Parts: sequence; C-alpha cells; structure tokens
Amino acid sequence: MINITNLSVRYKDTLAIDNINLQIDKPSIIGIIGPNGAGKSTLIKAILNIIPFKGKAEIDNLPSKDALSDIAYVEQKINIDYNFPIKVRECVSLGVYPKVKLFHKLKKEHWEKVDEALKLVGLEKFSHRQISELSGGQFQRVLIARCLVQEAKYIFLDEPFVGLDPKATFLLKKIMHECVSNGGAIFFSTHVLDVAEKLCN
Ligand code: ADP
Ligand code: MG
Repeated sequence: MINITNLSVRYKDTLAIDNINLQIDKPSIIGIIGPNGAGKSTLIKAILNIIPFKGKAEIDNLPSKDALSDIAYVEQKINIDYNFPIKVRECVSLGVYPKVKLFHKLKKEHWEKVDEALKLVGLEKFSHRQISELSGGQFQRVLIARCLVQEAKYIFLDEPFVGLDPKATFLLKKIMHECVSNGGAIFFSTHVLDVAEKLCN
C-alpha cells in the first residue's frame, strides 16, 4: 500500500525530517504525532510529492506522483487562502477533478455527487456562498465534502480535527473508518495524543 524508504527533507539549513522508513501494508488509520515543528506536515507533503525530498515514496508500488488519482489531501488549515474567490459548491467540485480528464467539464452525475456531499456535511444551504464568507468550522466541512467526492483510496489529513465542532468531528471519523472498510488507508497528523490513541491502528 504505502512504502516510504529513507525519506529526508531539508529546507535550506533545517533538516526537517531525517531518513524516515515506513511500511503500511494493510487498510488502516495511521496517526503521525509530534509537537509543533516536529515535521508532520513536511512528512505528508513529501510523501505526496508536493515538496522536494530525498528517498522513495511509493503508493501501490508507484511513485506517489503517479498515484495522485487515488489520493485525497486536506492540508493544514493555516495554509489555506480563505480569500480565494470561489464558491462552496465549486470548491467541493475540485475533489472530482482527479477523476476526470484535464479541461473536461464535470458531468451532471459529478455535480449530483457534489450536492450529495454538501448535504452530508450539512452545507446544502451554503452551496452558492463564497468560501471567504464561512466560519472556520464550516470551511473545514467544505474540505471534508471535497474529500468525500474524491472517493480516494488514500486520504492524507494534516491536523484535521483542529477547530472542528463535535458533529463534524463525528462525521470525519466516520469517513475515516469507511475508507478503511473499503480497503483504503488514512494518514493523519495530530498533536493531540488522546485523538490518536482512540482512532489509530
Ligand atoms: P509540524 O507540521 O510537525 O508542525 P513542519 O513540518 O511544518 O512541522 O515543520 C518542520 C520543521 O521544518 C520546522 O522546524 C519548521 O520550522 C521547518 N519548516 C517548515 N516549512 C518550512 C519552509 N517552507 N522553509 C523552511 N523551514 C520550514
Ligand atoms: Mg503541521
């Protein structure tokens, strides 16, 4: 499933992660724990080929950059530009794009999936609102909906529970367990030990 070999990342003079080896060979929920600055976000971004790294990151025996259609990624909230002019429904629809060819329009069935996901996270009434006009928790639910429409085998979540209300937390945990029962894997970072202990394999 996921195979990480001798993975290191250096930012100029900081060696952020040093020679990580990790094999995930069955459907599971994997938690990466550590304090701020430990390198959790860096590890996720390296595995997903978003930043340069040394070593190997393979997903289903392919370099991760060739497996992106099987991967959903929700980045850490502080890195997201809330002022990007995009409506809730469009933002969720971005989750469909890994499945359709580049520059192809989404079909009716894709939009139905988008609307279904919005309903699931309780945001159907907000679908035409700009994302800049949402609360932090509502925006987090948009990201969960985007993740849902992607129907990815592998889901990478960077600090997903920060700022999430109890209902959205419950929903996200349910999605995580469903992904695993469908044969996938979840890889998430947290600095809250309690969450990791209860949720992870
Ligand atoms: P975590 O997600 O565990 O809080 P990060 O992966 O964000 O940790 O950061 C790991 C280390 O790398 C920290 O020391 C941080 O300051 C440094 N770092 C992260 N991103 C950059 C960057 N773009 N440029 C330089 N240093 C960075
Ligand atoms: Mg981080």
